[in-house]
Amino acid sequence: MVTAFLKGRVFVGDGRVLDRASVLVDGERVVKVAEGEIKPPRGARRVDLKGRTLLPGFIDCHVHLCMDGQADSTNLARRERLPLMTLEAARSARRTLQAGVTTVRDMGGFEYLDLALREAVRSGLIPGPRILASGRIICMTGGTAWMFGAREADGPDEVRKAVREQIKAGVDVIKLMATGGILTPGVEPGSSQFTEEELRAGVEEARKAGRRTASHAQGTQGVLNALRAGVESIEHGIFLDEEAVALMVRQDAALVPTLSPLYNILEMGVENGVPQFAVDKTVRVKPAHLASLRLAHEAGVKVALGTDAGTPFNYHGRNLREAELLVENGFSPAEALRAGTGLAAAVLGLERDLGAVEEGKLADLVVVEGDPLADVNLLTRAEAIGLVMQGGRVVEGSHRD
Ligand SMILES: [Zn+2]
Repeated sequence: MVTAFLKGRVFVGDGRVLDRASVLVDGERVVKVAEGEIKPPRGARRVDLKGRTLLPGFIDCHVHLCMDGQADSTNLARRERLPLMTLEAARSARRTLQAGVTTVRDMGGFEYLDLALREAVRSGLIPGPRILASGRIICMTGGTAWMFGAREADGPDEVRKAVREQIKAGVDVIKLMATGGILTPGVEPGSSQFTEEELRAGVEEARKAGRRTASHAQGTQGVLNALRAGVESIEHGIFLDEEAVALMVRQDAALVPTLSPLYNILEMGVENGVPQFAVDKTVRVKPAHLASLRLAHEAGVKVALGTDAGTPFNYHGRNLREAELLVENGFSPAEALRAGTGLAAAVLGLERDLGAVEEGKLADLVVVEGDPLADVNLLTRAEAIGLVMQGGRVVEGSHRD
């Protein structure tokens, strides 16, 4: 089946915009991108791009498909909830895809449900984004996320073993907890958790197996520990300083700032069931978090879009609000769109196939009614997300032409 997207605005993914371009998709790949007219082959499906924008399928670098946006996630990860969690996760995967997010990196699952979802999507059992799965989060005993089925490990040897277990289970990426966090009671976001030595052992094991690492890292010392250990992706990065930012630039490490929880937790608050400790910590860290993002952005750190979807009121399918929040915090719309397409693909190591509307790439594409470069808020309006294509196939439930 050939699809021809005709004469419209194309956001390539690297920040470039073609004002009046046409794109041909044959099978699962983009086979032609041309400025102006293109003569579609006979029998091709035609999609008129007049007044619309064609973008690469979005990539969310930080979600939790095993969490469903419940106000209080502290008591969520219970074995007896697993059947319900599975159904909710399948719904979340579908909503994510229909919103135009065709790839996600899941940053911590429960009982390897994230791996099962990845296979279910791959085999066509359920609709969903392509999933990079991290399996069990690895943290110190009593560390951040311990109550979410994390693998607790202490000392470099045990961290090594924990990483090997995740690789044995088949994960794509390793998540290591370098500091305290917001949603785990009794830990402070600013405090360090794994030592540099422990993190280094984890990174070494991951690299041997060709896996990248991401580190939940909020406090300054923890961020530095993670970077010195060679972690490729800093999640949250609440308390960054000049040294951390310089190191990120030098090592080409990415920042995934996850602004959405910051806003959702404060907007909904204790009155809607968010635990008091989570609200209190969020109130305390918000100014530092936004200042850190500004510092990183100005220094030229690679900032990739990630939502932490699944955390309180942070619903799957609302992922692109993060692009709005990046724009609210100093990014140009083009930068925000790139953070969720070309740059995100590079951060996840998927740039050969994804993140751009380019000849040879997989046809993961989104048609947006209007121009998100002029109004980035369009992306969160369901009616503005037109056809979504994944690997050359139109996603059911996305609008058809
Ligand atoms: Zn997270």
